[in-house]
Amino acid sequence: MRYRALGNTGMQASVIGLGAEHLDGKSYEIVKETLDTATENGVNIVDIFMPGHDIRQKLGKALRGRRKEMIIQGHLGSSDVNQQYDISRDMPTVKKYFDNLLVDLGTDYIDIGMLFFIDTEDHFDAVFHSEFIRYAQQLKQGGTIRAIGASSHNPVIARKIVETGVVELLMFSINPAFDMVPANTDVLDYLSKDFEKDTMLKIDEKRAELYRLCEQRNIPITVMKTFGGGKLLSPQYTPFASALTPKQCIHYALTRPGVASALVGCQSRVEMLESISYLNSPEEELDFTAAISSMNEDFKGSCVYCNHCLPCPSNIDIAAVNKYLDIALADQTAVVKGIGQHYRELSAHGSDCIECGNCESKCPFSVSIIHNMKKAAEVFSV
Ligand code: SF4
Ligand code: SF4
Repeated sequence: MRYRALGNTGMQASVIGLGAEHLDGKSYEIVKETLDTATENGVNIVDIFMPGHDIRQKLGKALRGRRKEMIIQGHLGSSDVNQQYDISRDMPTVKKYFDNLLVDLGTDYIDIGMLFFIDTEDHFDAVFHSEFIRYAQQLKQGGTIRAIGASSHNPVIARKIVETGVVELLMFSINPAFDMVPANTDVLDYLSKDFEKDTMLKIDEKRAELYRLCEQRNIPITVMKTFGGGKLLSPQYTPFASALTPKQCIHYALTRPGVASALVGCQSRVEMLESISYLNSPEEELDFTAAISSMNEDFKGSCVYCNHCLPCPSNIDIAAVNKYLDIALADQTAVVKGIGQHYRELSAHGSDCIECGNCESKCPFSVSIIHNMKKAAEVFSV
């Protein structure tokens, strides 16, 4: 397993995490077997937003005796007052469900206390301009939660959340299809209807900006909807020319700026193992570029950080240089902060480019790589 720092929280999360939603309704044996498979393979982060006692208790029982091995994302405001998944901002309800989460899981702390489902301005106001955020901060001061996170599917609202400076982690829906959907669209609609392919012309800039901002501010992203609710894996429902594999979706998520962990919604040992096999897969099996480039002939010029262009005779990690350059160009102050340091820590830099052109002939998106290497050398002075 590989691990990435969860920003400034002091925690290190496995790059593949478990989103436990699809275990809801399963038998205890399946829950335990899936969780065991995850932990035996080094997975150490699980998202538990589900409000029901049954799944929480099964997960708590399965985790008994090894609580400290798992980073739990538990949500504030997730309820089922209407007999199904629901959002609550009513403080007695929020507190009751959070207290129950601790009891059901058999623990006295949650690692990341997530501000649940903030997708609209109204959601934002109801969380950040109310008792809700003070409650989360009190839980943190008291040690009941170790860090404050938030979940969102909307890049404009997610940006506002990050800019509050209050949250230490963002859970966001990322996959190649959602990233091509205009920012003002409710991506969750696409879980139940066909994608509108004619609007999916390129990676949405607001989404790309959000990921760059998170990387720059050291706000780690844990990814939800990594497989687009399963639609990207289905030849019938994918908006692309062909279905993607779980590994390709995981690779896409993990190569976005700011991302710490891709949560996968596995509901069995077999599915968990399939996702974990990502770690030992050859690069060609992770390549998601064919699907994306099939969408639009004009989808050219922007780097999607796929590293399809390697190998480079100067050993430049071209995707990483492009990624840091994009962040620096979006905000010059990033150069002197963490991004500049990350760039300098690379084993080869833009200035090492010998302009052989090998990469440009392999890039499916016609990125001007040589130009970018020169620009990176100029921006970072290396
Ligand atoms: S330059 Fe092209 S091939 Fe290389 S990482 Fe970017 S998009 Fe992929
Ligand atoms: S042109 Fe530069 S970045 Fe591209 S492969 Fe050659 S040396 Fe590497």
